Amino acid sequence: MNQDHNWQDLSPESKVVASGRPAKKADGELNPPIALNSTFHEGGPIGYGRYGNESWSALEESISILEGGKTLIFSSGMAAISAVFALLPEGAVIVAANNGYQGTTTLLKKLHESEKLKVKFVNLANLDETLAAIAGSQMLYLESPINPLLEVVDLPKIISAGKAAGCGVAVDNTLATPLLQNPLALGADIVIHSVTKYLSGHSDILLGSLSTNDSALYSRLEQSRRYGGAIAGPFEAWLALRGLRTFALRMQRSQENALELANRLANDPRISKVRYPGLPSDPYHLLAKSFMRGFGAMISFEVKATVEQVDLMCNSSKLITNATSLGGVESIWERRRRWPTESTTVPENLIRFSVGIENVDDLWADIEQAFNSAKIK
Ligand SMILES: *Cc1c(COP(=O)(O)O)cnc(C)c1O
Repeated sequence: MNQDHNWQDLSPESKVVASGRPAKKADGELNPPIALNSTFHEGGPIGYGRYGNESWSALEESISILEGGKTLIFSSGMAAISAVFALLPEGAVIVAANNGYQGTTTLLKKLHESEKLKVKFVNLANLDETLAAIAGSQMLYLESPINPLLEVVDLPKIISAGKAAGCGVAVDNTLATPLLQNPLALGADIVIHSVTKYLSGHSDILLGSLSTNDSALYSRLEQSRRYGGAIAGPFEAWLALRGLRTFALRMQRSQENALELANRLANDPRISKVRYPGLPSDPYHLLAKSFMRGFGAMISFEVKATVEQVDLMCNSSKLITNATSLGGVESIWERRRRWPTESTTVPENLIRFSVGIENVDDLWADIEQAFNSAKIK
């Protein structure tokens, strides 16, 4: 890998461009290859295609430089999350969000029901409730902002309380991204990404990552990937790194669009509530400002209309895609409660909106057009 940089001196905008490149040499390649090999001549550090891959290492280096620690990529965000839960012994107690990302919550409910883990489901946005649950727990599993209600969790306070109590702390940083917060720097043991989302940014692959500063933990997670087998495809890793080159730029543009649209939605009589931590009126605004470097590009809003009208509105947009997922260059929205696994704390008329990098006035015109098609006045 390229050793020419003092990474700590560079901004994220430069890190995403300069990291994860082969070492400099005459006629050397600027970009890492798509390394398509299961098999390696004996005697080297990789050994076999399930243990390591040049395309993985390049992406891992880049995520490490952005997030701190050392990184392992996995076949999906959920594969990475599963490797985290697999660290815990049978019957271990874990604190997690009662309304977090539905994939994680669904998995934790299953682990709890089968008594593999004992999960204390709490409202992570409620500081007192979360701090009270730490005693007797082995792991705190955090997510902030929480998907899809966009509540901001007091990460600095909760992470330090968890560590002081001897708890392992893992943070899903998918929505905030390393541009806005670095949980390892706040003391967390593991940072998780669904690389599927903002880091890769083009809605064309699934990948996950885990980063940690703890070398013993890194080894255990690496063994889990090696023998659990949830490895990334080299092509996916290569595409993710190609997408990551513009991550800082995409995120800045998406955030600008999100703030503008959140303001317009907040002043619109057809909307009963807008959740976006960047709005000064948002209950999490000051907390977010206290430790985050931005407010992200996800907006959730509730429409004054029937469920059928909200579904019709989502289906009527032309520029905005009605789909699940987030973090791509394309704006995407959906009515979250269309998923039976979504938390019932999420209102039926709530639309989760992943704001992309399109022209903001075009996006607003599409929203207007969708309101009109659904006869929402
Ligand atoms: C999408 C998502 C995941 C799961 O990632 P996949 O790559 O879809 O497996 C985990 N956490 C959050 C916050 C997500 O948005």
